[in-house]
Amino acid sequence: MTKPIRVAIFGAGPAGIYAGNILANSYPNVTIDLFDLLPAPYGLIRYGVAPDHPRIKGIVNSLHEMLDAGTIRFFGNVQFGKDLNLNDVRHHYHAVIFATGAIKDAELNIPGIDLDGSYGAADFVSWYDGHPDVARTWPLNAEQVAVLGNGNVALDVARVLAKHADDMLKTDIPANVYEGLKASPVTDVHVFGRRGPASIKFTPIELRELGEVEDVDIVVYEQDFPEGWFDEDAEGVTNQQKVMARVLESWRNRPSTGASRRLHLHFWHKPVEILGTDGRVSGMTFERTANIAGQTGANAAVTGTGELVHYDLQAVYRAIGYWGSELPEVPYNFEKGVIRNQGGRVVDENDNAVNGLYATGWIKRGPVGLIGHTKSDAMETIENLVADIDGLTDPVHTGLNSVLELLDSRGVKYTNWQGWLALNAHELALGAADPSQVQRERVKVVDRNEQVGISRAAQ
Ligand code: NAP
Repeated sequence: MTKPIRVAIFGAGPAGIYAGNILANSYPNVTIDLFDLLPAPYGLIRYGVAPDHPRIKGIVNSLHEMLDAGTIRFFGNVQFGKDLNLNDVRHHYHAVIFATGAIKDAELNIPGIDLDGSYGAADFVSWYDGHPDVARTWPLNAEQVAVLGNGNVALDVARVLAKHADDMLKTDIPANVYEGLKASPVTDVHVFGRRGPASIKFTPIELRELGEVEDVDIVVYEQDFPEGWFDEDAEGVTNQQKVMARVLESWRNRPSTGASRRLHLHFWHKPVEILGTDGRVSGMTFERTANIAGQTGANAAVTGTGELVHYDLQAVYRAIGYWGSELPEVPYNFEKGVIRNQGGRVVDENDNAVNGLYATGWIKRGPVGLIGHTKSDAMETIENLVADIDGLTDPVHTGLNSVLELLDSRGVKYTNWQGWLALNAHELALGAADPSQVQRERVKVVDRNEQVGISRAAQ
């Protein structure tokens, strides 16, 4: 007979759901409660993936099945550190897994970063994905915009900024996002990478997709492609890199179609300063870079050449990586923006494992990798948790509902799986009833209280 254990997971995004599912499948004598700060599940998929990426959003279907199987209980609108603290969790569970992700923007310390019109990509993504905790309006009043970074988030932001709003209508964007994008006067979106075109961190589908956006011309610059910029035969070159090099090559000689908007890809541009006029972004200075002598390929490091270049711009979005948030009383690595851990076991400042605490996903290893990677990550964490079971401290409270009684006693309006099913059905019905001519699968409810109200009415 195996020891019965109770496990709490904080974060109902892909990382938390995969961890719960893998745990349920590898240790049958477990009850799992999955909490999220937001009233609805799915984390990054609902609030991070671009609305015009239905293929990735489709991962929700398998996550739905995992939660619908009934082995994991979902509770939304519960904040770790506020509604439940570490002590509460220890009193109710043998173990807790943190899967809270990385939702802040990494900092960029250059002059002018705090000017009006200088934004973090994560905030913009939250806006266009209808995150309940961000402002409903976004100041889209720039004609020329910079997006800093050469990763997929930069591509998402650049594409959403450049795309005509009507081409976004069939997605699940909230009405206010459609209105905001529709009124945008943008004509030119400039994406800047600090290294060369061989060092991009995009993925092929996402890069190629840029060239297919209606009424948007892709512009690349000859001086950014030095002789021999990409060597297909070099050691370690991946197929993905080869495909992307061909895509970039195909854009080098592509004539303008006279599109009303342009998306420029610049390479070898290290951010130096955001320039302002009357407190608002009016331009940006970059230093051109070059590979350090002898370095080639995707991992080549660059150095500044001393050549400064200026652009007139009215907005700057930095998409230079996300950053994990510290959780109260949980050991945190401030240099990496992750929970201190070894293989998913949370460790203190002396690298000793803390009984019953685990981490998985971006808060464990940092904000890199695609959604599928969180699965292998969860496997490692769960393997270690299961190996530790005999040594886990027993909780004081063993009743399945004692934690819910605690939340009730604190007036926490938590949502549950039944509530999500109701909210989901409500959003799908709103989509079907949309009077626009475009078929919309879903219209997201944005307001937190409204989400909670719809969910709790069905619980
Ligand atoms: P990322 O892939 O790590 O890219 C970050 C980019 O920012 C890199 O080009 C990096 O340049 C640059 N950067 C970092 N610090 C900088 C600085 N100080 N100045 C200028 N540039 C700087 O991160 P991400 O774009 O946030 O994406 C996170 C993960 O989510 C990635 O694995 C991504 O593929 C995934 N994702 C996937 C999709 C999709 O549609 N499939 C969408 C969004 C995100 P260096 O290379 O020089 O460091």
